[in-house]
Amino acid sequence: MGVAGAGAADRGRRVPIRTCVGCRRAVPQAELSRFAVVDGEVAADVGRRLPGRGAWLHEDPECRTAAERRGALGRALRRSRAR
Ligand SMILES: [Zn+2]
Repeated sequence: MGVAGAGAADRGRRVPIRTCVGCRRAVPQAELSRFAVVDGEVAADVGRRLPGRGAWLHEDPECRTAAERRGALGRALRRSRAR
């Protein structure tokens, strides 16, 4: 069975898909950690309830390093300032 496409293998299960800002793969949200900006600093959103924009990232250090190198975290999390 030669399906060449990228894995949409198990359709039928509806899980939220998020894109990791490190490796930029779209994966189920459950595989990623959420980060948000708190007081201008990027913080892990452990409870997934911090307000504002979130960025999603694998816990893999390589993903985090890649995101930081590209400035992807800051870009994903930049929010409009009130002034
Ligand atoms: Zn990743």
